[in-house]
Amino acid sequence: APVAEPAETLTVMGGGLVGCLLALYLTRHGHQVDVFERRPDIRGATPVEARSINLALSDRGWRALEGVGIAEAVREVAIPMHGRVMHDPAGNLTHQPYGQAGQAIYSVSRAGLNRRMLDLAEQQPGIRVQFNQQCRRVDVRRQELEMLDVATGQARTVPYQRLFGADGAYSAVRGALQRTDRFNYSQHYLDYGYKELTIAAGPDNTWALEKNALHIWPRGQYMMIALPNLDGSFNCTLFFPYEGPVSFATLQTPAQVRDFFADVFPDAVPLMPELETEFFDNPTSSLVTVRCFPWTYQHDVLLLGDASHAIVPFYGQGMNAGFEDCTVLDQLLQQHGRDWGQIFHEFEVSRKPDADAMADLAVYNFQEMRDRVADPRFLLQKKIEGKISGQYPDKWLPLYSQVTFSHLPYAEALANGQAQEQIMQRLMPHIQTEQDYQRPEVQDLVAQEMARR
Ligand code: FAD
Repeated sequence: APVAEPAETLTVMGGGLVGCLLALYLTRHGHQVDVFERRPDIRGATPVEARSINLALSDRGWRALEGVGIAEAVREVAIPMHGRVMHDPAGNLTHQPYGQAGQAIYSVSRAGLNRRMLDLAEQQPGIRVQFNQQCRRVDVRRQELEMLDVATGQARTVPYQRLFGADGAYSAVRGALQRTDRFNYSQHYLDYGYKELTIAAGPDNTWALEKNALHIWPRGQYMMIALPNLDGSFNCTLFFPYEGPVSFATLQTPAQVRDFFADVFPDAVPLMPELETEFFDNPTSSLVTVRCFPWTYQHDVLLLGDASHAIVPFYGQGMNAGFEDCTVLDQLLQQHGRDWGQIFHEFEVSRKPDADAMADLAVYNFQEMRDRVADPRFLLQKKIEGKISGQYPDKWLPLYSQVTFSHLPYAEALANGQAQEQIMQRLMPHIQTEQDYQRPEVQDLVAQEMARR
């Protein structure tokens, strides 16, 4: 039996969200794990991340957290968001539920989640986390890391047996694989950047907007979104073109920023007292999709999380996908014990199509969020899909639910979603109102479509 084989000391590069979770999973299979993290310990006295930045956690992420017994602790500090609330330019609100009653995605603090996971990793016998350790280079043939201690400036060479690259979208481990033969790599930047801003808490830490929702200000070519924080504030993100007539390039002074926001986000501006300061203090960050393959080098190196598949944030799935990587790897470790060749091979072959599908879905969803959610026809289509799903639950799950509230492989979700969209294109010309769904001719059309599925 595989368990009889000796445990190994494994190396995880990156103590971010995926690296910490991965380390917890690996020790459950009896291994020792060394985690190297470039940043200082974010649990230190001075918060490394002063601004509160939050992420949407959904079913795939929850399942991975449950696997190492930390879901309950995270749930205590997570805020359920049951749907989208769209804010139009006049300040009118439209609600769109994400799924069935009771279903939600959850707003969690990135730093809070990372701190919690570092606590758990360090409490776990067998895991050693070292901070201020920047990987400068990997020699995959000699199995050596060139590490820099960023606190002392000292460089050293560290050997490894098996290396897991969880060092994010600009992974140094992937950088080493890029110099190996027949390694495919692409990166693609959107013409949009993002900037983080804040909606302040109301009196007594109350929420100035509806708390249990993800707020969107869709404006066609750009948008702002807001996710709730525990302290009553909201973390806002403006997704905005870098160049062009309405862009970061044209907002150069505090007055320009205030006037522009007052014009296009009039209901949000009174809630953003620090708007101009934040706009010029906070960085404008880019949005990249990274694809590569293979994700392995022989039996010694494996990439996971953003290191192998960085995606744009519009489906709220980047972290969830990285966490699901850990679930998939865990299942392979259960099946194949210490047969790393088999484990790595099955992992990359099974997971790559899903990562590619999720990357495409994420880009698609940008257009949905910034533009289509402001279109009444689109919202009607979503309502009709909800009705079809209610009537034919075995045959129809809306795409958003397949991605967010299921564990279906992403590639299957994408394919199903495309097929469903074609059906909706055939049905919608017959439907002008929600009530039309009950009309006998529409019911017949739906029944015919369902009979073919
Ligand atoms: P990271 O979180 O990037 O962690 C990598 C770690 O490796 C870091 O701690 C870093 O310091 C360390 N590191 C990097 N280089 C080195 C090196 N050379 N040596 C040593 N250590 C190194 N996902 C969701 O699921 N839901 C969301 O709502 C969501 N919203 C997002 C919003 C925005 C604006 C962005 C940009 C992303 C969002 N994501 C979201 C995606 C999510 O942030 C990432 O998918 C997730 O952080 C990936 O985790 P990771 O551990 O692979 O990489």
